[in-house]
Amino acid sequence: MKIFFDVDYTILGLDDSLRPGTIETLTQLKDDGNEIYIWSGMGERWEVVEKHNLKPLISGVYEKPTHHFHERLDELGVPFEPEFVIDDYPEVVAAFGGVWVPPYFFKRSFDQEMDRIYRIVRDFIATGTSEDKQYRAKGSTVPLF
Ligand SMILES: [Mg+2]
Repeated sequence: MKIFFDVDYTILGLDDSLRPGTIETLTQLKDDGNEIYIWSGMGERWEVVEKHNLKPLISGVYEKPTHHFHERLDELGVPFEPEFVIDDYPEVVAAFGGVWVPPYFFKRSFDQEMDRIYRIVRDFIATGTSEDKQYRAKGSTVPLF
């Protein structure tokens, strides 16, 4: 499955740290046969990929549309539609389907969201859905809460 991770507040904190478990979870998802992509509304974040040594784990880096999500994929050079997205921005998750995560800010925070993301992806691959309340089906309506 083609899984797209957002950058700011999803895998990267305000202090430039990676969310705990990011490397382990991306590694596991890749080992399971998924393709991991990194995208951001701020553009192609190669500097983050390089700084945190994510390159061996990912299949591409793109700019993320922040509105008219499906319509703008072409314009931004995203060559296919994401099959599953992980984002702290609920509208993106509702548009493509995936996991909404609470924003991550600082390394000191206790955070097990990456384990939860991994479980939801596994649920989705096995059953096409997930019971977890942070899972959003493609085409969900917002507001989500
Ligand atoms: Mg974000």
